[in-house]
Amino acid sequence: MLEQLKREVWKANLNLVKRHLVILTFGNASGIDRKTGLVVIKPSGVPYHLLKPNQMSIVDLSGKLVEKKYKPSMDTPTHLALYRAWPEIGGVCHTHSRYAVAFSQAGLPIPCLGTTQGDHFYGAIPVTRMLTKAEVKTDYEKNTGKAILKHFDRINPLDLPGILVMKHGPFTWGKDAMDAVSHSLLLEEIAKTALATILLNPKTAGLPKYILDAHFRRKHGDQARYGQKH
Ligand SMILES: [Zn+2]
Repeated sequence: MLEQLKREVWKANLNLVKRHLVILTFGNASGIDRKTGLVVIKPSGVPYHLLKPNQMSIVDLSGKLVEKKYKPSMDTPTHLALYRAWPEIGGVCHTHSRYAVAFSQAGLPIPCLGTTQGDHFYGAIPVTRMLTKAEVKTDYEKNTGKAILKHFDRINPLDLPGILVMKHGPFTWGKDAMDAVSHSLLLEEIAKTALATILLNPKTAGLPKYILDAHFRRKHGDQARYGQKH
């Protein structure tokens, strides 16, 4: 069932290791088949070097396990909250990459300091609020999803394809699982560069809005000019 999507999501998960975004069993990537509303995600606790495409878990949008083989990642309810809210996304990814986690643990958003960020993220990468004791005790992962969604009332999720969860780490998304992984890689690079910039000049100013607009809009939306026509 969903063999092609399983392969895609498996490959996306292996890419997390290849790109040095995860160690041990940290992190997970998923993809959705919008026709059936089924989500393929990394199984819980299976080391990446042993992971096979047919071990990927399939759940529906309510979290029900569709194939009774492998238990899905514990973060599945967070992925599902994003898929339910945003029909435009096709993949979600979560890592514990070092520099993004450093910003999460410091409770700081990643300010938009230059065009590397502006090309891919339309502004600062936000950090969620701290979850309450009650929210962690019951439906922790689902409440993490709710805390993420709160930041996107007036923002298109594909204009800002990632967020930092307070004291935890980054979640990213994209048009499919591999795109979500690419955004995790970009987010990590941006976090690392932002930290270096702030160390060099703690008073550095943010990227002016007119440059942010110019950079983001040449790659995204109706006016995009980037890449080849064919
Ligand atoms: Zn985590």
